[in-house]
Amino acid sequence: MFRPRTGKTAHTSHQGNTLCHSGVSVGQDSHRHAPAACPRCGRTLHEPTAWSSAWRCDWHGEVHPLLPAFSPSRDGLDGLLRIYRPDTAGVPVWLPWPLPAGWLVAGFAGAGDERTGVRACAVALAGPNPLGGGPADMVVVAEEPGVGLGAALAGLDSVDPGAGFASAPAIATACFGKHDFPLWHVESPDRAVFAGEVKGRWLWLVLWPDTAGALLVEPIALRDLRDPGQDLDLPFGAVSPRLPAR
Ligand SMILES: [Zn+2]
Repeated sequence: MFRPRTGKTAHTSHQGNTLCHSGVSVGQDSHRHAPAACPRCGRTLHEPTAWSSAWRCDWHGEVHPLLPAFSPSRDGLDGLLRIYRPDTAGVPVWLPWPLPAGWLVAGFAGAGDERTGVRACAVALAGPNPLGGGPADMVVVAEEPGVGLGAALAGLDSVDPGAGFASAPAIATACFGKHDFPLWHVESPDRAVFAGEVKGRWLWLVLWPDTAGALLVEPIALRDLRDPGQDLDLPFGAVSPRLPAR
């Protein structure tokens, strides 16, 4: 689960706010009035006011609002892509492709608003654990420094990978286009966490249980789902419990 680390109030308030249960598109309009959460702790945010255009968390101050998850469907992906602003760079929508054998796309999430565009996004996946064969989850996050979504999913208190990051040799590789990007292991409880930097944006891969990190023994190739003309036949599964505020 995407658990707020402190208090259950905010999380509880999201129960029943399932944008996917109606079976209809979960596009931008569906999200416009949905409660946004803090990407760092999951608390419900205070909306912008006439005096401030920023969303505020009681604990973390001004943050980029994390919208309820978009369903694992083409409509859900389109809903996420509609939040992107053409006049902002935004962050990649990273998808491991080809998917690991037996894995499915399990939903999308984004942080940002109509003013800022998407400053962090997450793609959730689910499939068999390569070690032991039980169920496993993965979330791939791209974010601008300081947003904190990847660190929250990784179970960290920091907004970024934290002190000591990259002090040891890189242990995994992400590939995009013709380029390889080193990934470092990030110490975290109960899950396997890898992080690196791609073009000034954090890339996080968080896997549950920790043994599913074995998927990163081989270099992992990524696609940016924002890129046109890919025409990928994405296999969609059930929505991931790892995504926020379903
Ligand atoms: Zn917060």
